[in-house]
Amino acid sequence: MKFNAIKFVFLSNQLINMEKIEHIGIAVKSIVEANKIYEALLGSAPYKSEKVESEGVETSFFRCGESKIELLEASNPESPIAKFIEKNGEGIHHIAFAVSDILSEMERLKNEGFILLNEEPKKGADNKLVAFLHPKSANGVLVELCQEIENN
Ligand code: ZN
Repeated sequence: MKFNAIKFVFLSNQLINMEKIEHIGIAVKSIVEANKIYEALLGSAPYKSEKVESEGVETSFFRCGESKIELLEASNPESPIAKFIEKNGEGIHHIAFAVSDILSEMERLKNEGFILLNEEPKKGADNKLVAFLHPKSANGVLVELCQEIENN
């Protein structure tokens, strides 16, 4: 009991800026085919399609309330998405959390013992700075942190 009380105080003293689930990333073999399926499921067309060359992915984004679905197709055979599909088939690839300060959140999670896949935030799709946590540090789930890039 004493330990729990101490732990609680410790946590509440930290600046935690996890805001919400921003999107769920789904690995697909064909984004053209998957767009049709998700358009039928969600009742609206993707609001954005974008190629992220650095990640080897073709993406499209759907809105569902305040959350989004990101479809990802590999744009080359070396893409992490190609490897994921080879190993697991199509399906949920990652969960992305919106954070208000990605640098402080990366630092906090590193101190909590999570394994960061990139040491610096990088430019991701949909106008975001992103960083990933290794699935083996989050019960098999690839976790993305993302922060909206301010357009001035
Ligand atoms: Zn994502």
